[in-house]
Amino acid sequence: MIAASPTVVAAERAAALVRAGRDVALLTAGEPELMPPAYVVAAAQAAAAERSRYPAAAGEPELRAAAAERTSQDEGASFSPEQLVITAGAKQAVWSALFLLARGLRVAVPRPGWPTFGELVTAAGGTAVPWDEGAPLPPCDAAILNSPANPTGRALDVAAYARLAPALGALRFVLCDRIYARLWFGENDRAPGLLEVAPELAARTLVVSGVSKAYAMAGFRIGWVAAPAPWARELAALQSQLVGGPALVSQRAALAALTGPQQFVADAAALYRARCDRARAALSATLPCGAPDGGLYLWADARAAIRARGLAGSAALADALLERAGVAVMPGAAFGVEGFLRISLTQPDARLDEGIRRLCAFIHGA
Ligand code: PMP
Repeated sequence: MIAASPTVVAAERAAALVRAGRDVALLTAGEPELMPPAYVVAAAQAAAAERSRYPAAAGEPELRAAAAERTSQDEGASFSPEQLVITAGAKQAVWSALFLLARGLRVAVPRPGWPTFGELVTAAGGTAVPWDEGAPLPPCDAAILNSPANPTGRALDVAAYARLAPALGALRFVLCDRIYARLWFGENDRAPGLLEVAPELAARTLVVSGVSKAYAMAGFRIGWVAAPAPWARELAALQSQLVGGPALVSQRAALAALTGPQQFVADAAALYRARCDRARAALSATLPCGAPDGGLYLWADARAAIRARGLAGSAALADALLERAGVAVMPGAAFGVEGFLRISLTQPDARLDEGIRRLCAFIHGA
């Protein structure tokens, strides 16, 4: 049986409380609260006024080309448009890649990590092998990398990729989820990618990304997978049977996002970075958080708070915060590690501050 995504379930539960009239600060979802750039909205409106035909199954040629160019920049590698398949969100890209490749294989998935990875490995007939952050690669046939990572925000640097490369070279495939590559708090405009450090892995590396996070386009449901050409052909064939290409209106909007002015993404990254700094400062005496390298989240150490309150674990703490303090966060247990909370930075400053204030007040017993 496939388990529902705990992040989606928690976000929907909190949203239902809000609909029922409760005042809840929503620090659960990885969904930017920003409006997409105006030129994206305009492109979607123009596309909605066109005759509604089926899109090209593997993605409209212009969008495949734009996504190839973007992925080549992000990875410091070279991808041709034929290597790109446009999907209904990065989630579907992860699914299609695993459906094609993971059957019968042991696939290392990051821990803590996005729960969808392990669940979809299992659904595709593989076995998920937890891979603890910073640890060497466990015995496996394939691996998933996510940098910057959900939920910790930490990124692999050039030295970390170089250390991993020999072990990754022995695998059947490596899937790099780079949805947060441009929501990057470091120098340059992106987190480093595997292939620029280890180009020899190109024949077995797939890259997944999309527009949901960097362009605040979660509802458009556009992602993509860039794969070695033989796998890309199979992924394109699968897409022709499965989805027939994601919504044309959304593809046009994503094309506008990738080819339009890019200041929006830099501004969004700066905004999340500023929120991250202010939330970490406000939490410092209550829940210590490591400094994320990028992304949309804080990963807060709640072990002392859980002990002090005599709670069973992070899920009990998150429940108590939701029911008694009016703040919704994700329990670390949903990401495979006990004792932590994931705090999302996707609310306006005032609401984020209010959520953190409630969280601290609850933990200090006020
Ligand atoms: N990958 C990771 C690591 C994520 O955190 C998320 C969103 N939570 C996704 C993929 C999903 O992206 P999309 O909205 O494009 O399906």
